[in-house]
Amino acid sequence: MGSHPTFIMRNVVIIGSGCAGNTAAIYSARARLSPLVIIGHEAGGQLSITSIVENFPGFPEGVDGPQLVENMKQQAIHFGADYIHGSVEEVDFSKRPFRLKVAGVWVETRTVIIASGASARWLGIPGEEQFIAKGYSSCATCDGFFFRNKKIMVVGGGDSAMEEANFLTRFGESVTLVHRRDQFRASKIMVDRVMNNPKITMILNTAVESIIPNETGDVVGVVLKNLVTGETKNQDVDGLFVAIGHIPNTKPFLGQIDTDDEGYIVGKGGARTNIPGVFHAGDVEDRIYRQAITASGAGCKAAIESERFLEAEGH
Ligand code: NAP
Repeated sequence: MGSHPTFIMRNVVIIGSGCAGNTAAIYSARARLSPLVIIGHEAGGQLSITSIVENFPGFPEGVDGPQLVENMKQQAIHFGADYIHGSVEEVDFSKRPFRLKVAGVWVETRTVIIASGASARWLGIPGEEQFIAKGYSSCATCDGFFFRNKKIMVVGGGDSAMEEANFLTRFGESVTLVHRRDQFRASKIMVDRVMNNPKITMILNTAVESIIPNETGDVVGVVLKNLVTGETKNQDVDGLFVAIGHIPNTKPFLGQIDTDDEGYIVGKGGARTNIPGVFHAGDVEDRIYRQAITASGAGCKAAIESERFLEAEGH
């Protein structure tokens, strides 16, 4: 990290240090643009809370998620990127240079890449953080494989929950879908697929009240509460997957960057946002794919667009 990176006018400030932000940093740094990366509140993004990643190309044996994202960061630093801890508190994109407030200090920059991601919504049950990567997951694509011939539970009633329940039947001995109501947000076709899958059992009007761990802290069961009768019961579970939505990390940009009614950035083609010189990358805009590789690809695109934008302006 440079001595006082925050006081220097930057060419590129990248908000977020997940796959999208780090890849944007590698490309911007190799273009000699000295990017400044604001690490944000979830350093390393969603990969930092997974275990092994087996679908990132180039790693036939799989790769440790936190290590992969740390390697990306080191690669960016090697080419001259600066990283600072802290989150963006406020931005002023109304005029250029753009201004961002991080840990109480205003940073000025010619371009911005918003790669602040989306955070999985978790259940909010007691002590849940300690079970992440120990049987409690928000990503079936990432972690389903670890539950071959095991008892899997999926929580949620939207399309994601239906899709994940179906997908997880490839691995699990059984899949139980738990939903807090008896009506689904998911499309009928997705619900029908779940209902017609003999490996899936549905439990409706029910919430997961707590997780039961074994002596090594792995998930071995849950306490379920019927929300109509109030009754509780224990059920054996090896893998508990939540699919109850994501929350895009766009709070500081609301009102300046166009977002949809859930807060996701509305892209304007390529990596552009409604403000020329402010670009997006990764899950902060992408509610469909949400993969490490697609986020990295988006980070690459945003960096190239920011580089061309600067070049067109003679920087
Ligand atoms: P969603 O549609 O917002 O559904 C979230 C579900 O989680 C709802 O059923 C909700 O219950 C439940 N939920 C929320 N908070 C909860 C909590 N604290 N405890 C228990 N349950 C909770 O989210 P999504 O399924 O992630 O889908 C997001 C968007 O992506 C949707 O537009 C969806 O159509 C789309 N998508 C499409 C596909 C596809 O077409 N292949 C696949 C995945 C996602 P309530 O219903 O009671 O509120």
